[in-house]
Amino acid sequence: MPDLTQWQKERYIRQIISPEIGEEGQEILSRIKVLQIGAGGLGSPFALYLTAAGINELTIIDNDILDISNLQRQILYNETQIGEDKVKSAKEELIKLNSDVNINAYKDYVDENSIKKYLEEKKYDFIVDCSDNFKTKFLVNRIAIENNLRCVIAGIKDFYGQIITINPKISACYHCIFPQVDTTPNKGPLPVIGVTPGILGTLEALEVMKTALGLPNLENKLLMVNLLDLRFNIIEVVKSEECICSK
Ligand SMILES: [Zn+2]
Repeated sequence: MPDLTQWQKERYIRQIISPEIGEEGQEILSRIKVLQIGAGGLGSPFALYLTAAGINELTIIDNDILDISNLQRQILYNETQIGEDKVKSAKEELIKLNSDVNINAYKDYVDENSIKKYLEEKKYDFIVDCSDNFKTKFLVNRIAIENNLRCVIAGIKDFYGQIITINPKISACYHCIFPQVDTTPNKGPLPVIGVTPGILGTLEALEVMKTALGLPNLENKLLMVNLLDLRFNIIEVVKSEECICSK
């Protein structure tokens, strides 16, 4: 196992001194490779915190161009980047934040073929859904199961959010919880308070770190977040024997 460099020890000292992490934990984090689907409201804090924490590699797939209405919640970007590909701006910002992390960002459709293409190129430890639609969340869930990849999925609307971590074959999956969700696209934009994806995307980064470190996580647990009343509830979920994850 390669030791941390002096520079890494200085850079990550505040998490290294956590009794839950230590130098050994930082070495684990420094080897994680993550495939991130989507670079918007959830994806912004997710990418920023994992990059800051010093993972090995973050690969982002997104197909959008930055619009002025994104800036209310997509904190990775700024006004000078309006009209540019999000992946281009994301890569620039994340490299500036931490040159210790390998950042790949690809402008591509988020569909089954494209995700599988990236999974064939490299071995990832996690696939994480930072998309804004149910169709992609179910796709990421299914691909995670088929490839036995650890997975985190979050969703948000207005002041509300939910998040779960999936260990395929072992824990309940997204489909176990939502067997019959309508995946037809929304007719128009959904209301979003910027802080909501901020908190849920940050929790997705936390789940990746804690899962890699073997710390308590949201496997078999759906965390429901209500930011209007400031309520955080965990619902225990059970793996369904009828589900795609049990076949
Ligand atoms: Zn399932």
